[in-house]
Parts: sequence; C-alpha cells; structure tokens
Amino acid sequence: MDVFQLNIKSGDNSLFWYDKWLGPVTLEEKYPSLFELESRKKCLVSDRFIDNQFEAHWKTNVIDYTEIRCINNLKNDLSRVHLEPGEDQWACALDNGSQFTVSLLRKKLEHLQYPNRVLPTFKWSKVTPIKVNCFIWRAMQRKIPSAVALKCKGVDIENDNCGACVNRLECSDHILVQYPFACEVRKIIFNWCGLQQAEFSSVGELIIFAENWGSNPRKAIRFLNICHGLIWNLWKLRNERVFNGVFHTPIYGAGAIKSMVYFWTKYRGNEGIGDWDNWTASPFTL
Ligand SMILES: [Zn+2]
Repeated sequence: MDVFQLNIKSGDNSLFWYDKWLGPVTLEEKYPSLFELESRKKCLVSDRFIDNQFEAHWKTNVIDYTEIRCINNLKNDLSRVHLEPGEDQWACALDNGSQFTVSLLRKKLEHLQYPNRVLPTFKWSKVTPIKVNCFIWRAMQRKIPSAVALKCKGVDIENDNCGACVNRLECSDHILVQYPFACEVRKIIFNWCGLQQAEFSSVGELIIFAENWGSNPRKAIRFLNICHGLIWNLWKLRNERVFNGVFHTPIYGAGAIKSMVYFWTKYRGNEGIGDWDNWTASPFTL
C-alpha cells in the first residue's frame, strides 16, 4: 500500500527509474529489460525529457523486438507526462490526496487486513474508563487474549478449552457472553435494570443491543455503561479464576459491577447519581 504519492512538476528531484512517480510501480519494476539498458540508472525524471519529449540514453543499440515493444509501451506511458516549473512533491495517497492522519492510515490497514469485514460500530463512553472502552472494542472483534486467540497466535498453551466447562473452547464470546456464569451475572444485572433477559451469542451482539437500547438518552447511556461494566468485570473475574484459582458467585459478580459503575458515574460522569441505596434498587431512579 502506498501511503504517499509523488506529484511530478519539474522532475528535478525525482528518480526516473526508482521513484514511483508514474503509477503504482516504479519504472524499474515495470520495465526491467529497459532498466538493464539504461546508461545512467540514477537519472532524474527531468534528465529523460527534452521539451517534454522522452529522450532515452541506452547503453547499447536496441535491436531486440521485445525491447522495442517495451519502449513503445514506455513511450505510451510517458505521453501523458507534462513537466512544468515547480518542485516535485509528496502527497498523502490514502484518500484522494487528503491530509495524512494516523486514523486514515489505521482504517486503510484494517481494510487491507480484512477487506470484506464491516467493523462493528462502537459508541465510546466518557464515563467508562479509556482502558475499558478499548477492551470492549477489542472484545467485539474477538481480539482479547482468550485461550483460543492465544493458540491462534502460536502461543504455546496446553489446550484452548474453557477450564470451567466441559468441551467448550475458551473464546472471547464464551468467556464474556456464553459461559453459564456470564449468563447468570447478566441475568441479575438485566433484572436490576428492569429488562427481560435477552439471548446473546457474542460480545458484539450484546454491545450493539446496549448501544441501541432505550429512548431516554440519559437512561440509554447509563445502560451502556452498565454493559461495559458487565463485560469488564466478567473479564476480571475470569482472570481471577484462571490465574489465582478464585471462584466467585454470580451475585458477587453482579455486586462488583453495580459498585464499579456507580463509582464511574459518580466520579467520571457529569450527572448526579443519588445515593447508593437508590442505585442498588434501580440504576435509573435518578
Ligand atoms: Zn466455559
């Protein structure tokens, strides 16, 4: 992928054979047999034009038929070149010459890696800490270090089964959504929010549901924060289980989520949240 493209003006500071100044490949790559014939390989673009006409300097006389055909093709490529006063300049080639930004480059790289994938929408929450937003964004793309993901990356681990279930792979959707413990915790949290328990098969599904839930904007953002807290705490609890051998009950897990989101909202949000007792009764009373 070319991040920058060379816009030729006078041709005084670009190399005829080595720079990509005429299309996506260098002339060296496009015409290797002619490049071999070139007498001065580091010549400038302007060195090969006289009065805007191509002027070759070959080492030997060209007699080979295929070379003559190549020369005609090259001349044809060069016929649209018009040199003019001014300095040759590099411009960002990512999006029709728009200004270079890191996010533009990231989008292009993502597109190259997964040309057919539509990335999930993601509503960034200011109340949720940055590391949690990032974690959820990654989890939606199944890019968190689950056993399955690590094994995929070539990390030497014994097996990629879930340590708490029989014959289930430990992928991100399993840990955070499908795992019976995750379902139980989600049920408690959804009940607390006054919602019917809904079925989800992936983190993406759950987060998209949360992002589109509710018509009251204040309630909607609070529910989204709660779902962020749900996913984040399930990950923390999984790590405690896997690395420290600590098992907690779903009620403990739900309690951890309620208190974490309470403190996020109280100290990171700009709306009042009321007292703890009201919060534990329902997250939407205030
Ligand atoms: Zn499991």
